[in-house]
Amino acid sequence: MRLEDAARLTHADWISKAEETRARAETRLFIGGQFVDAARGGSFDNISPVDGRLINRCAAGTGEDIDRAVAIARASFDSGEWSRLAPRRRMEVMFRWAELIEEHAAELALMDTIDIGKPITDMIRVDMPQVIECVRFFAESIDKVLGSVTATETDVLSTVIREPIGVVACISPWNYPLLMAIWKIAPSLAAGNSTILKPAEQSPMSSYRVAELFVEAGGPPGALQVLNGLGEAAGQALGRHMDVDKISFTGSTEVGKLLLGYAGQSNMKRVSLECGGKGPHIFCDDLPDDLFDRAVRTAIDGVFFNMGQVCSAGSRLIIHDRIHDRFLERFAELGRTAYVCGDPLDPSVNLGPLIDHGAQARVLGMIERARSDGAQVVFGGSAPQGALAKGAYVEPTLLAGVGQDDFIARQEVFGPVAAAIRVRDDDEAIEVANNSNYGLQGGVWTDNFRRAHRYVRELHCGTLFVNSFEEGDMTQPFGGFKESGNAKDKCFDSLLAYMNAKAAWFRLN
Ligand code: NAD
Repeated sequence: MRLEDAARLTHADWISKAEETRARAETRLFIGGQFVDAARGGSFDNISPVDGRLINRCAAGTGEDIDRAVAIARASFDSGEWSRLAPRRRMEVMFRWAELIEEHAAELALMDTIDIGKPITDMIRVDMPQVIECVRFFAESIDKVLGSVTATETDVLSTVIREPIGVVACISPWNYPLLMAIWKIAPSLAAGNSTILKPAEQSPMSSYRVAELFVEAGGPPGALQVLNGLGEAAGQALGRHMDVDKISFTGSTEVGKLLLGYAGQSNMKRVSLECGGKGPHIFCDDLPDDLFDRAVRTAIDGVFFNMGQVCSAGSRLIIHDRIHDRFLERFAELGRTAYVCGDPLDPSVNLGPLIDHGAQARVLGMIERARSDGAQVVFGGSAPQGALAKGAYVEPTLLAGVGQDDFIARQEVFGPVAAAIRVRDDDEAIEVANNSNYGLQGGVWTDNFRRAHRYVRELHCGTLFVNSFEEGDMTQPFGGFKESGNAKDKCFDSLLAYMNAKAAWFRLN
């Protein structure tokens, strides 16, 4: 079912579809175009964060499965069946793949909702359109890649050509299961690499289905394989593998650092990292009323959307002294009710549970720690009770009176928690914003262009929004500085990062 039809389904429709989808979904490893059990027969329980019930049991890949998949990927790469396919033929497969994803958009959306408890409405309105657009963008890019002829003496021809790298392993997180996976596998495949995806263990269903659709679209089975497994087993085996040429990772900074280590201890494979964040969202004191109101509404979405499980969330609200109290009053007035907790299959719900009860306990513990450090809980701060008590829910929370060096201002919460910091002027706002190990995404609201320009120049963030937040399209590079990582996703340049630049020097005389 396509997105426009899916948008009309009711809660009852989604409940009945969820049962069918869950029962039909593949949870075995997708190796060489076949679904197979893990070599050692291992599996783990996939538990619903909505009610703690078992969703399904997933095959747990280990080193032996990884070895097998890497050998198939290498053979496919060397055969040239995908890596040397004429660009227009590769494009046809990718476009057909995008069509199939579009035809199965409701099913794929539902898989992520079941796995992680993300509201179905967000899947339909936000994730799936971006998934489809991403595959099309990289399909369109395939024959736009250019090499070059460099400036040399006349008796020499010096060229640079771009080639696929080889076997690329993509390791993805659970917070946007299919979208984060597609941001990696689409450019990797478009570049001609044999690609292995290890999805987050909590959210494998959509990855398996999308790989199956790739083969249905005409992609060679060795070009895209999906192996779920625990991070320390399957992820580590990929990270240390001597025949994996590149790791493309999205996830925590902690695991990103481990992957750099594995590469150093194995074959120096390339490691591109998209990791955590603690986004500064700055509000200046010159906002006219209409911009002020838009700023508050955007700040609420910037920190509570996707239950705050967003690497690029604007989780530090840095507010100029003159508007601080008015801003927080309005934020509290709108923010208390903007997000409704409930069953993620209900199209009117926009706040599901966190990924699991461990995350719930961690986030509630961080709120408690902020409170004991002197922050005031303006609203939220606990888990909803009653019908939702079995789920890993946390209420949207606003903390005021946070100091820039407090634990809550420095650690990524990955939950619906905003930390408000009061600042005197632009100098202090910039100092506070840059006082972070992270540097992913930030935003500034001001009616003064020169002021905005100064923030853009001085903030250490990969992406900055002026009078907006979390917007963008496929042309915009997504990725951070410092411990947020070293790579860019989405844009045309990200395709080039899945290719080697090879120089050739032809002596002509
Ligand atoms: P995570 O780091 O725990 O897991 C991410 C992936 O790494 C999973 O597939 C996991 O199985 C795997 N993994 C875990 N241990 C591993 C190991 N030792 N070796 C190899 N792989 C291993 O992260 P998560 O909890 O799934 O996701 C949340 C994190 O992801 C947050 O920190 C968030 O900021 C970050 N994130 C970043 C971006 C971005 O683009 N910068 C986007 C989304 C999420």
